[in-house]
Amino acid sequence: MHFLAIGECMAELAPSSSAGQFSLGYAGDTFNTAWYLRKLCPAGTVSYFTAVGTDSVSAQMLGTMADAGIDTRHIVRIPGASVGLYLIVLKDGERSFSYWRDTSAARRLAEDETRLATAMEAADVIYFSGITLAIIGAAGRATLLAALRAARAKGKTIAFDPNLRLRLWPGAEEMTAAIMQGAGVSDIVLPSYEDEASFFKDADTEATADRYLQAGAKTVVVKNGPAAVHYRHGAEVGAVAIAPVSDVVDTTAAGDSFNAAFLAGLERGRSLPDCIAVASQVAGLVIRGKGALVPLDLAGIAL
Ligand code: AMP
Repeated sequence: MHFLAIGECMAELAPSSSAGQFSLGYAGDTFNTAWYLRKLCPAGTVSYFTAVGTDSVSAQMLGTMADAGIDTRHIVRIPGASVGLYLIVLKDGERSFSYWRDTSAARRLAEDETRLATAMEAADVIYFSGITLAIIGAAGRATLLAALRAARAKGKTIAFDPNLRLRLWPGAEEMTAAIMQGAGVSDIVLPSYEDEASFFKDADTEATADRYLQAGAKTVVVKNGPAAVHYRHGAEVGAVAIAPVSDVVDTTAAGDSFNAAFLAGLERGRSLPDCIAVASQVAGLVIRGKGALVPLDLAGIAL
């Protein structure tokens, strides 16, 4: 199985144990999913598609991806550009984030249609998110959505996490319209109910699933924090309860890791409830650790 994730990976500066010092890492929603997929599917190929610059931090980012076993061969390199950056500040145990991503090379990831099509051609499952759609602007969105539509018509499986982030969009209307277009080219949609309820006014998780099925998705899996995950696939409907985690450390990448484990389960031919059960166990481990990329001890999980 060959997975391809498309989006933005950023440089991350996170506080280290000595005051005033930061450590450099790399993370971003679709990249996090690729990173977890790599751990969960050691036999498959996991590729990442984005655009980076030609400076040394871009080179280091590519090196880190390659060291993690992620295929970087399709990544576009734009001379003179660089990667986006975010800084995590800890105050009284609360994390706050500042971003510098307006000039990130990843905003131009859809400019090279040929590279995009080549990367998709090699893949079986293609994953993207609402953040991918947000950062590339209207022209980039039109190109990416057309490429995804064409890939789907060729039999590729398209998976999408709406990941609604209003601050990345000019306004809520543009965001919700683009998200519905994203769902319209996707087979699998993996929303988080809390975000969906705020922007689409869905009364419940069933309403979220209905909306995405009507947009053209075949399978919808609605995450809902510690509450049960609701799923729909044609006439198949159900809910899978989550084992509550009492010692949550950091919920960063809960949804990203869930999506990775869910897609890995599908690749193994598991049933939807089984995929969801494993995905919630993996997300449960991730929220017990700090940061987006948490080393997983998978010993207790029947993948
Ligand atoms: P969310 O995107 O917040 O809905 O969370 C994604 C997934 O992470 C959920 O479907 C759960 O599997 C897991 N998760 C998030 N928060 C918790 C929690 N407090 N306890 C257990 N699992 C959680």
